[in-house]
Amino acid sequence: MSHALTIEPIGETIPVAEGQTILDACLRAGVYLPHACGHGLCGSCKVDVVDGEVDHAEASGFALMDFERSEGKTLACTARLLSDVTIEADIDEEPDQQRIAVRDFTGRVVALEDLTHDVKAVRLELADGEIAFQAGQYVNVAFPGIDGSRPFSIANPPDESGHVDLQIRLVPGGAATGYVHTTLKLGDTLTFTGPYGRFFVRVSRGGPLLFLAGGTGVSSPRAMILDLLAEGYAAPITLVHGVRARADLYGEQEFSALTEAHPNFRYVPALSSEPEHSDWRGERGFVHEVADRLFGGLFEGQTAYLCGPPPMVEASINTLMRGRLFEKHIFTERFLTAKDGTEKPKSPLFKKI
Ligand SMILES: Cc1cc2nc3c(=O)[nH]c(=O)nc-3n(C[C@H](O)[C@H](O)[C@H](O)COP(=O)(O)OP(=O)(O)OC[C@H]3O[C@@H](n4cnc5c(N)ncnc54)[C@H](O)[C@@H]3O)c2cc1C
Repeated sequence: MSHALTIEPIGETIPVAEGQTILDACLRAGVYLPHACGHGLCGSCKVDVVDGEVDHAEASGFALMDFERSEGKTLACTARLLSDVTIEADIDEEPDQQRIAVRDFTGRVVALEDLTHDVKAVRLELADGEIAFQAGQYVNVAFPGIDGSRPFSIANPPDESGHVDLQIRLVPGGAATGYVHTTLKLGDTLTFTGPYGRFFVRVSRGGPLLFLAGGTGVSSPRAMILDLLAEGYAAPITLVHGVRARADLYGEQEFSALTEAHPNFRYVPALSSEPEHSDWRGERGFVHEVADRLFGGLFEGQTAYLCGPPPMVEASINTLMRGRLFEKHIFTERFLTAKDGTEKPKSPLFKKI
């Protein structure tokens, strides 16, 4: 049995299946609701129930307090409908956001390549048609015998819609990334859902773009930059890709070739722990330090896209803000894992997740 969910202030009504969460139903209908952890822990997806009854299910007592429950609030990522329901949600419409419904996909592994000693490139060819997405978005992949699903950013641009390319770093002690690095083989199939996320380029704003990426955090920027350059984006685009050492760096040939073909694109690989005596002649330091040097500590006029491990994203936000770039010009994708999934962003001035 399904119930009807009306979403205010947009006034749209969608069906919600028995056992389906409000968030899942909205995303599958192409209605974006703010959310982050997806497991009732962080409270980012809090909405007001203005009519009808919901089951709050596994919402944590910290993310949804007793007084909030009695005030009619719920968490969209856990709440199931017990009747027809109307919610009021904080839907902030973005001119550059495309309305793309989340769907289920099956992909066959048609390429599996070591990009470095701990990063694998995985190409999943779609068994069931094409995937529509915006460059920068991610998918949630399920792995055999492993509970839940894991998010990975799509590294290819949207005009390659018959497959998704993923760049997967092995997390020490990680179940899914361990599976990818030890067990996954050509010809295997994996299921996934997507596309998710609001990490896409606000093209309509125009102007110079600064991408700061840490490790496999270069996956989304790769898709975004390939898409922008193919579309003829003419303003300056800078990519700073930070990794620890030379052995961790990948993608230089491709990005260097892009700088030859597109004079408005600048590519800066940066190594934070390369031995002093090595023959590396490029930039040294953390991503935010290198960006600070490149821009002389002043980022006014840029729109920045930050992608990678949370400490890299936090450090970069602080540097950008010190250099006069503010929240509305900074967009982030934090590669959270189960270890840090419940931590809040550390920058007090910066609330975007
Ligand atoms: C939007 C998004 C996009 C991402 N895109 C990419 C990408 O393109 N490429 C990429 O490499 N990564 C990406 N990530 C990160 C990636 O999703 C994680 O590395 C992955 O989920 C780890 O899965 P796992 O099963 O290997 O690790 P898990 O088994 O989930 O464990 C992860 C870590 O947490 C520890 N841990 C597990 N359970 C607990 C617990 N209960 N308490 C404390 N610690 C615990 C483990 O020991 C391990 O260190 C992305 C993350 C997000 C949020």
